[in-house]
Amino acid sequence: MTNAAKMQTSSAGQTFQPARAAFPFLDLKAQFAGIRQEVLEAVTHTLESQHFILGPEVEALEKEVAVLTSCSHAIGCASGSDALILALLALEIGRGDEVITTPFTFVASAGSIARVGAKPVFLDIDPETFNISPRAIEKVITSRTKAILPVHLFGLSADMDEINAIAAGHGIAVIEDAAQAIGARYEGRAVGSLGTMGCFSFFPSKNLGGAGDGGLVTTQNAALAERLRLLRVHGARKKYDYELLGMNSRLDALQAAILRVKLRHLEQWTAGRRRNAERYRELFHEFRLESMLKSPVTPRGYVHVYNQFTIRVRERDALREHLHRRGIPTEIYYPKPLHLQKAFAYLGHKPGDFPESEAAGLEVLSLPIFPELTEQQQRSAVAAIADFEAE
Ligand SMILES: *Cc1c(COP(=O)(O)O)cnc(C)c1O
Repeated sequence: MTNAAKMQTSSAGQTFQPARAAFPFLDLKAQFAGIRQEVLEAVTHTLESQHFILGPEVEALEKEVAVLTSCSHAIGCASGSDALILALLALEIGRGDEVITTPFTFVASAGSIARVGAKPVFLDIDPETFNISPRAIEKVITSRTKAILPVHLFGLSADMDEINAIAAGHGIAVIEDAAQAIGARYEGRAVGSLGTMGCFSFFPSKNLGGAGDGGLVTTQNAALAERLRLLRVHGARKKYDYELLGMNSRLDALQAAILRVKLRHLEQWTAGRRRNAERYRELFHEFRLESMLKSPVTPRGYVHVYNQFTIRVRERDALREHLHRRGIPTEIYYPKPLHLQKAFAYLGHKPGDFPESEAAGLEVLSLPIFPELTEQQQRSAVAAIADFEAE
């Protein structure tokens, strides 16, 4: 089969034979084994209190994340997607408004914009970082543009000084989609503190993941924090007294209690992810793979937290199948950019509109990077890539 034909079969949604993967892509059971007692105690404590909606655990987590991100306010909510929606609603963004983001991201980055009635205006990515390319932002700003929504994809901050300077020049807001990047830093500053608001997700596979859904918004702006607190409880300041049209989007106390336990380990887990990333680079060098694949880049002054370790390779689908046969798990984030998805067809985009996002969709491959990954497992993954190269 030609490479082009192989690629088509796989892009058409081919699923591989049931895996006999030697190890998982993300081992949350290994993580739980290390914190089992602490988590069970926190859950028991919350169950005994029977305080499930907001309350002390949620408030304590909010304070702790505010400290971690150097923000004056943190507001827990039901998911990362809701965090984005709440941030947009707090800015009164809706019908007739435009918000700039990239099509190479998880669906919620643009879906949230559309969900509040505004128009997602896509801009291509920088192929080096996978993040929004600031140079082109100016060209798509119109009188209807209300915000820029950069995504810190895979755990690497977007180029926030450039983005903030453009936003300030036009008097528009910056909403950071920091769902994949808790703990990441840019020029010494924490993501979530760089824009007008920062949106985080506690989905289980994120670097700080709960036992289900959860999210949080950070901000330095007291008025916005106040609005976010109202919006997440139906717009009510007092019971049955509604000031705003809000929603039901609270972070569960049980989730907050578990997240507080896990937050105590986050720094160490992030260090593990960063160490594993370095080890991949060393192994790529040892196996002479540096010309065959491209490792993720970290510009000077950035701290990458590797929610994903995403390489680029030409024969991505063939390599992925080969690795799968060797029991090496991989994932593709993201195979099809958002401008080519049916849900966004109404925006009228066509293939070729965002070439870097489309090329990335065909070439990216995420390798296991979770903190508990062993050197042996990484070595077996890289050796299997080298075998493919030798074939
Ligand atoms: C996970 C994620 C979200 C949404 O978070 P949920 O908690 O799953 O709703 C938003 N944006 C990006 C980039 C994400 O990775």
